[in-house]
Amino acid sequence: MKNKGLLLVLSGPSGCGKGTVCRRLLEKHPDMRLSVSATTREKRAGEQEGVDYFYKTREAFEAMIARGELLEYNRGYNGNYYGTPKQYVREQLEQGHDVILEIEMNGAARIKEQCPDGVFIFLAPPSLEELHRRLIQRGRETAEQAAERFSKAKAEIGMASDYRYVIVNDELERAVERIEAVLQAERCLVSRNEELINELIR
Ligand code: 5GP
Repeated sequence: MKNKGLLLVLSGPSGCGKGTVCRRLLEKHPDMRLSVSATTREKRAGEQEGVDYFYKTREAFEAMIARGELLEYNRGYNGNYYGTPKQYVREQLEQGHDVILEIEMNGAARIKEQCPDGVFIFLAPPSLEELHRRLIQRGRETAEQAAERFSKAKAEIGMASDYRYVIVNDELERAVERIEAVLQAERCLVSRNEELINELIR
């Protein structure tokens, strides 16, 4: 399938600022769409159904898997399922919208198998010290959970080579500008402009 919009897959270790970067991109580009994932994890304070996630019971999630409604899914470190609903992503891409998937690396690998022309970006922290500081500071988890996320983050950074681009999130606006530059270059790829070229030589 040749998509009209770009499928942007953004991963990175916990605490690297994926959520903030996505929010800023969406704010700057109202035509861009965020794929809202389904999950079985508990809703956190301040989160909203249909905005942050579609919250499902395990049974409901497994029914979605059985019906083939997910583009990919993964069982997280906490035993909870996370997955990308297929229909919304397809529709938006076909309508010409760029779609962001903010998902972890196993899910990104599944997407790569199905959509090799996606734009795979790994968001990295400026340093491990900074990542550690951010994980502690946001106070979303217990010290033990934060420590677990931190050691997992180190392993994840080692897997960045599965991605095409690495963007260091040292400063929000700069990181967003780098992503915009990547998207602009991707839109200029010859492989994405065959129709235009054929029209010019007709
Ligand atoms: P959290 O529980 O902190 O919201 O998310 C935990 C992890 O799940 C994050 O790394 C996030 O990127 C990932 N995640 C969120 N949605 C999806 C999804 O639809 N599929 C996959 N594979 N991972 C997801």
